[in-house]
Amino acid sequence: MHVYSDPRMLAHDPGPEHPEGPWRLAAVRGALAGVAGLTLQDHLRFATRDELLTVHTPAYVDHVLALRGRAGALDHETPLSEQSVDAALLAAAAGIDLATDLVLGRTRRGLALVRPPGHHASADHGCGYCVFNNVALAAQASLRLGLTRVAILDWDVHHGNGSEDIFAERDDVLVVSMHQSQLFPEGRGRAADRGVGAGLGYTLNVPMPPGSDGMAYLGAFDGEVAPAVRAFAPELVLISCGFDAHRLDAMSEVALTEEDFGALTARAVALAEESACGRVGMFLEGGYAVEALGPSVQACLRALAGEG
Ligand SMILES: [Zn+2]
Repeated sequence: MHVYSDPRMLAHDPGPEHPEGPWRLAAVRGALAGVAGLTLQDHLRFATRDELLTVHTPAYVDHVLALRGRAGALDHETPLSEQSVDAALLAAAAGIDLATDLVLGRTRRGLALVRPPGHHASADHGCGYCVFNNVALAAQASLRLGLTRVAILDWDVHHGNGSEDIFAERDDVLVVSMHQSQLFPEGRGRAADRGVGAGLGYTLNVPMPPGSDGMAYLGAFDGEVAPAVRAFAPELVLISCGFDAHRLDAMSEVALTEEDFGALTARAVALAEESACGRVGMFLEGGYAVEALGPSVQACLRALAGEG
């Protein structure tokens, strides 16, 4: 199993009061110690402008690149320090390289421990702590390498609006988002939102009521998500894994445990074994409870390794 990270992403500093602080990545990186069988790629490259253009608009990419080395902000929730754009370029490259390694058969499981996160970033704007859409760049890279069907499973507690928007009109990427109903972004992630045009039926939103626990999540996964993924028969399964649905995380009223994240991951792995040669790439999205992050990522690693 390959893990993609880089200590330079710790230098993205949105400020002492901001929930998406460097300590998050430090916590998940610390959880790697003592886990056997990992190949850690801990020095990433910067994504190129052309690579970013596979998902994002030229105007947006150039807007972000102009902020490289400068403090600024994409919006009031997404402040940037001098090193933030570099970190975003490393996170984007992690996604592309993870997808490339999976498609070329260099590994069957990949985990991108990156920040800033990506799933709220749309083609033409970043928001919600996200700059570039790392998982969307990975999906697009795998399609450019010849795959024809990629599934993105997003169980960050917030709706994956950026990923949905990027692929809403497409039938080659199935985007599934399980999230707390009506949390963020406002008005997004309704069950009735199922894609647009040729993409109709290739977006699946599974809003979960506040208070949902692991039994509710696993029931919804088995009842709604798994049949949709099976029908789509993806050649690659990508996961936007936020840990902000953890019961200790103050961002939501969902109450998952680290064991639940492991169980969700094990189900995703089983689906990938059916149609995708077992290829799974997982991305760190949100997760803001320091005591939940390490155990949760370890549970996911065990499940990715087939021990879940
Ligand atoms: Zn989130």
